[in-house]
Amino acid sequence: MEALIQQAAKEIACARNVIALTGAGISVESGIPPFRGKGGLWEKIDPMEVAHIDAFMEDPARVWRLLIQDMGHLLASAQPNDAHQGLVALEKQGRLTSIITQNVDGLHQAAGSSRVVEFHGSFATVSCLKCHTKQPIKNCLTGELPPLCDCGGVLRPDCVFFGEMIPMNAFHAAQAAVATCDVMLVVGTSATVQPAAQMPVMAKQNGAVIIEVNLDSTPLSHSISDYMIKGPAGNSMRQLATAANEMRSDGS
Ligand code: NAD
Ligand code: ZN
Repeated sequence: MEALIQQAAKEIACARNVIALTGAGISVESGIPPFRGKGGLWEKIDPMEVAHIDAFMEDPARVWRLLIQDMGHLLASAQPNDAHQGLVALEKQGRLTSIITQNVDGLHQAAGSSRVVEFHGSFATVSCLKCHTKQPIKNCLTGELPPLCDCGGVLRPDCVFFGEMIPMNAFHAAQAAVATCDVMLVVGTSATVQPAAQMPVMAKQNGAVIIEVNLDSTPLSHSISDYMIKGPAGNSMRQLATAANEMRSDGS
């Protein structure tokens, strides 16, 4: 493992432009369960069904009760962990230029990362389906469900539900980052939710080196990833950032 970390850190140290794609696994050590994998929400409910826009439009109170409210409470108290901090350290070293995250938890920004593309939107705010006014989600974590706007419209979280489009600006920012990176860190994602899962494939086709950090193998691990660093993201990212910091840009 030590040798693998050193080699991967060398790729980072020698790169011109490192980016990261992150998923729910990076926030597990902050106490937020992922969708898939051990302890994932899928053991209790089927997010593909509950977190689908059709389910929300059909019965918003049910989706607020089964998914949104609990998630909102969890996120309100979650703190960034060593994996988020590792990415901050790589940005401070001048190596990491941007993060594309599938997460809606805001923990990269809370840790201090400055260029974060929220590919699946955010849970920080909600919007009215009728008048589109935004407000903080914390206004909606207690009381009647579904929460309503002053105009009477139903409020929805500003995340991307299954069955919805990726916000255009996030999609374009992600594509631009993928097209210009020469190393992509892929941290804590099962790489099964499209179109996010396509990004490491596109980066690889453009010649980038793919460094995967995950507890388990994913569909990328044997075909796309050049490095598969198995283990909890906090430990791996801390070691990678430290090792890269000790190297000069020629990798020595
Ligand atoms: P996922 O739930 O499909 O997969 C999580 C991945 O993380 C798995 O591959 C698992 O092996 C790995 N993992 C779990 N614990 C880990 C750890 N400690 N260190 C390293 N890896 C670990 O996640 P996904 O690929 O991001 O897709 C799920 C979708 O659900 C995303 O679109 C996201 O928007 C949403 N989601 C977000 C959050 C959040 O914001 N924190 C939480 C749950 C789901
Ligand atoms: Zn309204």
